[in-house]
Amino acid sequence: MTGDGFDPDDFETRAIHAGWEPDQETGAIMPPIYASSTFAQDAPGEDRGYEYSRTGNPTRTALEDNLASLEGGEYGRAFASGMAAINTVLNLLEAGDHVVVGRDVYGGTHRLFTGVYEDYDLEFSFVDATDSDVVAEAITDETALVWIETPTNPLMQIVDIEAVSAVASERDTLLAVDNTFATPYLQRPLEHGADIVAHSLTKYLGGHSDVVGGALVTDDEQLDERFGYYQNSVGATPDPFGCFLVLRGTKTLPVRMDRHSENARQLATWLDDQPAVETVYYPGLASHPGHEVAAAQMDDFGGMLSVDLAADLDAVREFVSATEVFTLAESLGGVESLLEHPATMTHAAVPAPERRETGITDGLVRLSVGLESVEDLQADLEQALAGTVDSDR
Ligand code: PLP
Repeated sequence: MTGDGFDPDDFETRAIHAGWEPDQETGAIMPPIYASSTFAQDAPGEDRGYEYSRTGNPTRTALEDNLASLEGGEYGRAFASGMAAINTVLNLLEAGDHVVVGRDVYGGTHRLFTGVYEDYDLEFSFVDATDSDVVAEAITDETALVWIETPTNPLMQIVDIEAVSAVASERDTLLAVDNTFATPYLQRPLEHGADIVAHSLTKYLGGHSDVVGGALVTDDEQLDERFGYYQNSVGATPDPFGCFLVLRGTKTLPVRMDRHSENARQLATWLDDQPAVETVYYPGLASHPGHEVAAAQMDDFGGMLSVDLAADLDAVREFVSATEVFTLAESLGGVESLLEHPATMTHAAVPAPERRETGITDGLVRLSVGLESVEDLQADLEQALAGTVDSDR
């Protein structure tokens, strides 16, 4: 934290200052990129807080402290990617353990759980986590972890964190929340009873589509120690330059998220009126089934939305290739607007029957609404719809 115990309350101030104070020797405002793999010791085993950069690095510490502060948690750990962070939570489990997972999760999370950890004798039940009774029914004596996202990727479903936390803690089960879509500016899961918050820093926290990273935040010292042990043992840690880039991103997180949310709200409202659009999935719309829970647990609704165009696959593929301001690409959360086709891109790893059961149709398109002029974004979608999906009707 900054200064002599100065501990600012407001998120905007912590986003800029938490984790780093001007360098004592040089006055450097930004944390240096400590490009050093190892650190001199005064005597064997007597280091000055750092010994080897896989174990710890000062630029990484600045980022970890910044992220912990933003999530309102005690401890932060940074990783080489969001998947490395998620993998670290799975490292806590033992063969025979069972995990209850919200059905609509990032395709890579689904792949890690079923494609890697089922082989290590972990069992996963994918359930509708928007209903905490369904989560409660899925928990068995072997359940060690409940894993949810909210808003979910790509259907923007809202999970009531407090309700799921209540059923998880009743059964002595850890609750981890992937907070990538909301960011701590809009939602802080630890405040609602989660034990672990996971992030892909690649998205809004980095914010400029120029770095891949991940993080875990918790209030539990023992969990944090395990995470540190896995950082060092597994080695999926970020390099100091990546940490520097994410720290630069978190400074502007509040202003970016305000604008992302405003642009997405305007586009969602407009898309909702377009005849070519069958469904708009955006929790900020009053018609969204999770709107009330989202309004209670989030400070705003964020920059992600999905639309179901209910058109055939060829027309949808033409649509996503026809935009000029929105770029067709995986990922999200950068300053530029992106769009993608979950069924063939981010969620292609989810088997087709499961995709259909979840609602990830061939007509579904996910938009990461950026910070460009909202008029330009709307005009871009309008011309792309007119030239492809509309003419398909
Ligand atoms: N969690 C969510 C919600 C994501 O959307 C992603 C990536 O798209 C990840 C985790 C994985 O993060 P990374 O790509 O940084 O490994």
